[in-house]
Amino acid sequence: MRVLLVEDDEPVAESLRRGLKRYGFEVEWVTTGEAALRHEGPYEVVLLDLGLPDTDGLDVCKALRGRGDVPIIVISARSDETDRVVGLEIGADDYVSKPFGVREVIARIRAVMRRVQPRTSAEAPGNGPDQYGTRLTVDRKAARVRLDGEEVALAPRSTTCWPSSPRSPGR
Ligand code: CA
Repeated sequence: MRVLLVEDDEPVAESLRRGLKRYGFEVEWVTTGEAALRHEGPYEVVLLDLGLPDTDGLDVCKALRGRGDVPIIVISARSDETDRVVGLEIGADDYVSKPFGVREVIARIRAVMRRVQPRTSAEAPGNGPDQYGTRLTVDRKAARVRLDGEEVALAPRSTTCWPSSPRSPGR
């Protein structure tokens, strides 16, 4: 799973990045709101610090939400309840306060993804692709399989590989 990490504090970002990688996440790290909005992805979840050097993280959150429903988890040193409430109201899915442990962040990412996925598959019951866990998507109708968002090449079904009757050994 790819994570877009928006954090200007280098030690915080570095330790998060290392921790997330250890748990199998791919991390795209940017340090400004502008870079976050310019990033073309793909990423499946955003970790967004509110105290950024160029823009307010809340504005970044709002802009990202305006583009689509990628899950956003706000991270911040601000303990102010107002920020938390505003963040959630303008579309953040969850909130982590600094200081935090990597495992807490991962637990929140997983919880957010669990909430998001049923929402997606409930939209087209029986018709759309089937989602297996967080990585595998199978679209039977289009005969397409995606792993981590990338299409897996499927071998065409062949009858010649499997003769209907076993061949008798030649003598
Ligand atoms: Ca910051």
